[in-house]
Amino acid sequence: MGKIILDGNVVAQEIRDGLKTRIEVLKNIGIIPCLATILVGDNPASETYVKMKGNACKRLGINSIRVHLPEETSTSELVETIIELNIDNSVHGILLQHPVPTHIDERAAFEAIDIRKDVDGVTSSGYGQTALGFGEYPSCTPAAIMKILEYYKILIDGKHAVVVGRSPILGKPVSALLLNANATVTTCHSKTSNLSEILKQADIVVAAVGKPEFIKGSWLKQGSIVLDAGYNKGNVGDVDYNSCYEVAGAITPVPGGVGPVTIATLMKHTVESAEKFYV
Ligand code: NAP
Repeated sequence: MGKIILDGNVVAQEIRDGLKTRIEVLKNIGIIPCLATILVGDNPASETYVKMKGNACKRLGINSIRVHLPEETSTSELVETIIELNIDNSVHGILLQHPVPTHIDERAAFEAIDIRKDVDGVTSSGYGQTALGFGEYPSCTPAAIMKILEYYKILIDGKHAVVVGRSPILGKPVSALLLNANATVTTCHSKTSNLSEILKQADIVVAAVGKPEFIKGSWLKQGSIVLDAGYNKGNVGDVDYNSCYEVAGAITPVPGGVGPVTIATLMKHTVESAEKFYV
């Protein structure tokens, strides 16, 4: 296999194309899918992500509601807002932008989201369903990574996948999805002592570390498949692209890799949720 750039924009376009007719069908019965995003505080990166999600809705002709709460919002006020969106019949998906300010119990807020509207798989039920292999809406970034592998027909069965990161919305669910797809999965984290040795054995590498250009090409096996979920200041991922590009058989760029597929997946989950409510 020659070197492949795993182009997220192409994969995202395919997902969006598949949604157009479904959105039309819903519109014909008077339903416009709607995603509600909740942002707490003024984290500029989070503001950008929320704006990108709203713009993606607009481009597809679906509705979005943007709830922006002040930094000093309490856990119970945030939960209250989520409950209002749960009972609002015009809302089909709820996305609470992570991270919330540290004084808020983020887990309690996530758990308040109605499972039927949990389009980013953040509730414990959503995560549990994903892990058991029957989840309606796995977290969007893990689902996007699986979609990229599927689109490029990359064999997962029997391969050794190494996930670097174990966060509840990324590392853990993508490990579960890869395991369910018959990979042999190793999940690494900040206490992993021999990361580069483990990565040397990886056929598939998922970088979900949150550290710019952290994974180096010299740590990888020749020909490995590298999926970089990272998105850091300066538009760089969690892998050192230049050195990893030299060694990898296929690699996602940043930007233009996992990011656009994540947003398209969020749109897909929102449309699916609208369909489940009404069709
Ligand atoms: P996170 O919650 O900060 O988790 C980072 C994980 O990396 C943790 O499990 C941590 O281990 C592990 N880690 C930290 N330092 C390490 C080290 N030296 N060696 C091995 N593991 C280490 O981050 P996240 O929310 O999962 O996000 C990860 C990245 O993905 C970020 O760059 C974020 O911007 C990006 N992201 C992208 C998208 C997208 O659409 N592309 C969506 C969400 C997030 P411990 O558990 O031991 O602390």
